[in-house]
Amino acid sequence: MTSSRKKVLAVYPGSFDPVTLGHEDIARRTLRLADRLLLAVAETATHSKSHMFSVEERVDLLREVYRDDERVECVSFSGLLMDFARDSGAHCIIRGLRAVSDFEYEMQMAQMNRELWPEVETVFLTPDAPLSFLSASLVREVATLGGDVSSFVSPLVMNAMKEKLLA
Ligand code: ADP
Repeated sequence: MTSSRKKVLAVYPGSFDPVTLGHEDIARRTLRLADRLLLAVAETATHSKSHMFSVEERVDLLREVYRDDERVECVSFSGLLMDFARDSGAHCIIRGLRAVSDFEYEMQMAQMNRELWPEVETVFLTPDAPLSFLSASLVREVATLGGDVSSFVSPLVMNAMKEKLLA
């Protein structure tokens, strides 16, 4: 029997500066629910963070991490996430929930996004417990101070961070 189920496209937005094993865990879980995944690097950070990689470098790193998975596409976007999601034909927005600290901000964003475009659902996924304390900003901070972050990012991201810090 051929399935007439529509193909589900999920958009997972973030700063991915850089992509961590926490992001990868959420992406893997998304692919258990969705047929295609669009990893979308936000060009305009809504809250200021000190960056390590440019938006182009972050997209390139994501592409390297997912180069063997044709279900995953990596792009950047600017402007409103909901405009980008609508233009991409997305069915859902994926967000990762770590600790309670993520909850308030994520809840506000999800409600606002629903106002902006009621057709899309925000789906929250939780990572493997050991990854639930991990953030890209912590990885950047520890790496910049000379700490070993090899358990938190994939080897190719680790290499890119080393090169960046030596540059
Ligand atoms: P960060 O907060 O690490 O800088 P992003 O801004 O790229 O990360 O976050 C994009 C999305 O990924 C957010 O929904 C965030 O909650 C989620 N996320 C980031 N790290 C993790 C993690 N370790 N486990 C689960 N979700 C995560």
